[in-house]
Amino acid sequence: EPALIPVEQHGIRREQLSPAARKVCAVLQEGGHKAYVVGGAVRDLLIGHPPKDYDVATSATPEQVRALFRRSRIIGRRFKIVHVMSGPETIEVSTFRASQDAETDEHGRVLHDNVYGSQAEDATRRDFTVNALYYDPTQEVIVDYHHGVADLKQKTLRMIGDPRTRYREDPVRMLRAVRLGAKLGLSIDPAARTPIREMAVLLENVPAARLFDEMLKLLFSGYAVKCLTQLREEGLHHGLLPLLDVILEQPMGERFVWLSLENTDERVRQDKSVSPGFLFATLLWHEVLKNWEARKAKGEYPQPALFEAMDEVLDSQARKLAITRRIAGDIKDIWALQPRFDKRVGKTPYRLIEQPRYRAGWDFLRLRAQSGEISMDIPDWWDRFAHAGHEQRDALLRDAP
Ligand code: ATP
Ligand code: MG
Repeated sequence: EPALIPVEQHGIRREQLSPAARKVCAVLQEGGHKAYVVGGAVRDLLIGHPPKDYDVATSATPEQVRALFRRSRIIGRRFKIVHVMSGPETIEVSTFRASQDAETDEHGRVLHDNVYGSQAEDATRRDFTVNALYYDPTQEVIVDYHHGVADLKQKTLRMIGDPRTRYREDPVRMLRAVRLGAKLGLSIDPAARTPIREMAVLLENVPAARLFDEMLKLLFSGYAVKCLTQLREEGLHHGLLPLLDVILEQPMGERFVWLSLENTDERVRQDKSVSPGFLFATLLWHEVLKNWEARKAKGEYPQPALFEAMDEVLDSQARKLAITRRIAGDIKDIWALQPRFDKRVGKTPYRLIEQPRYRAGWDFLRLRAQSGEISMDIPDWWDRFAHAGHEQRDALLRDAP
């Protein structure tokens, strides 16, 4: 039997939810179905973080949900969920489902979990107790099957069920444990933490695209530095996540990469825009430099050698990381701009500052200077040049080193 926690105890008023989340639950309930806000949003409200989006869990089938909302569509092949649009928001509505008799591969990984189930089964298939809380906006009650509210109070991230079994079913849960722990300031319960080291190797069986999505979530969580430090402590990087090997094991680029991650964390927490292209460009830059130097030492011409180096480094990462073409294009744009900052003569600087990617290129240049790779004079000069009037620009060009 789940605990029913009244508003006097948990303190979440329905007004704290977004209008769309309230509306969707109300319409489903009026249609005779159960409907709750579930998962990250409830957890975040309980610890006083504004939720970034809302998920709703319901007893209605996807087709029944679809029929109740004009602006909605069914998405997903593996399991169907419904996106309901309401005002500017999109709410993800999923039907209660079970995972007990789910089909698994030879490593115990769940292949299909499309079996509809009861609310209790839906709670049990979720990963952590703090993620299995259901909030009913009408009654303002939290339905808590696994003592999630108590765990949240005690700042513990506890796995539902046996952690080893749950990691075998879905190894990505190891990465989720680290990310959610860091982001929410919860410590991972020892029963869930201990097996990570020995089970990390199971991440090899996870499709590259899914790992990539999870890595993006981690890197853009606003707590990347904390997450990566923890991943290193858990031994979760070695050979499994090639990007992490690059991040954590580059003697030359280490300072540069950590500066870039700190910079990203700060931007995310200030709600500023961040781009995967920029971050990946920083993570792989010292690989490119190394490759480029080797080519130049063999007598290759600098410019074509740089492009060869860029392609080789990207090719070696792209497969496992599923870096999309678009992101690869952004990365190359930023790298290709770097040698152009050395040319401070004639018309070239005028053309460079008009480049659409100039700003990203300059931010990258400044990080290189902050990490000690190049002199700070270079980004400073470009900053002055970009903001100067016509005559000042002539003077800057005359005095350029
Ligand atoms: P955030 O959105 O802040 O990153 P979240 O907990 O909302 O965190 P989502 O990926 O949005 O994460 O997932 C929504 C809910 O779905 C989770 O709260 C959890 O209940 C469930 N869930 C997500 N991924 C898994 C998984 N790999 N195994 C089991 N349950 C999961
Ligand atoms: Mg979420």
